[in-house]
Amino acid sequence: MTTNLNIPQSNRTVRVRMVDTTTQMSIRTDALIQPLQSGHEFLNLTDVAFLIENETLNKKAMFDLGSRKDYWNLPMVARQALSRIIPALKVEKDVSDILIENNIRLEEITSIIWSHYHWDHVGDVSKFPSSTALVVGPGLLRDPALLPGYPDNPVSPIPADAFRNREVIEPAFELSIAGYRAHDFFGDGSFYLLDTPGHCVGHLCGLARTTEDTFILMGGDICHFAGVIRPTLDVPFPAHFSADILDRDPFFSIPCPCSLFADHHPNTQTDQHKTPFYDVSALGASVFDDPTVAQQSVDQLRRIDASSHVLICIAHDPDLLRYLPTLNQRPGQDLNQWMREGWKEKVRWGWVNELPRAGKPGRKPIVEGFWREGEIWEKAIQELSR
Ligand SMILES: [Zn+2]
Repeated sequence: MTTNLNIPQSNRTVRVRMVDTTTQMSIRTDALIQPLQSGHEFLNLTDVAFLIENETLNKKAMFDLGSRKDYWNLPMVARQALSRIIPALKVEKDVSDILIENNIRLEEITSIIWSHYHWDHVGDVSKFPSSTALVVGPGLLRDPALLPGYPDNPVSPIPADAFRNREVIEPAFELSIAGYRAHDFFGDGSFYLLDTPGHCVGHLCGLARTTEDTFILMGGDICHFAGVIRPTLDVPFPAHFSADILDRDPFFSIPCPCSLFADHHPNTQTDQHKTPFYDVSALGASVFDDPTVAQQSVDQLRRIDASSHVLICIAHDPDLLRYLPTLNQRPGQDLNQWMREGWKEKVRWGWVNELPRAGKPGRKPIVEGFWREGEIWEKAIQELSR
């Protein structure tokens, strides 16, 4: 139930649709999670955003925008940072293109909410009309390392044009929900923003009421891999994994005993069936500003995952695109009936496919090399890093 999460009562909901931002990347594991284990040196990341619609108030908000498709035009610092930890990247479309292709006019989008300011979430806000407000998390607007944006501040990772000619809002947090400071975004209990610090300045999650007592938690980059929040005491490994969540691989017997994976848990001092495989990275390559605080935000998320009434969708979980409908493929299909559809159970364990198999890599990379306008970009690292 949701009673222990302290979510205020309301009968107002938002309609939630998921957007495949078409961003695909391979990234060094030690930048995101620890401990590093052999055969799991790189993570496959996809990237989702959400269209959130309050039909009563006639408002539409985007939660995140993925990467801009011309990522070679990112601010210098962002380009250089990505070239250090990402060996492969492909972005086919801007989210603005995806909305227009699916008959949603950009003028309809009343707000864009950034989960945080990193390049793979901020998209290209300049494509949206000046009537679209930009909503950012706490501290971002007062951080001299970030604002003014690039190129006015040559070392800012955020493009200045995102802020130009539009209202920019930093919400105040008047509530406490599920252990986080929270803001009632539409003022009617249909959608909350959660202050989830640690990854970087101003990191937010979204909490959408999908029916009167079910919710989707949009995790942004609170963590990057579902094996950071599962398994737990409350959500332990099942005895077997069914064939439909496992990739076809002779390494897996069917039905597949979960001990096959638990035996490869990086922490041998614990009950491997009830302990998350990874924590957020505090290693040298970590992209977390404050790994200790980020881990506290994640510890709370682990507890929320135990609620059968909350579906957690972290931005980079490839299983979301495997099992849930997207605006790109099925524009009329929302996620609101996720509980009835059994989607929480569907996406719960697919991440085990990414784990090493007898010390060798699990799933193959989802993308190889850097792509630019439909072709491999041979000189990418060289050009991005300067
Ligand atoms: Zn990200």
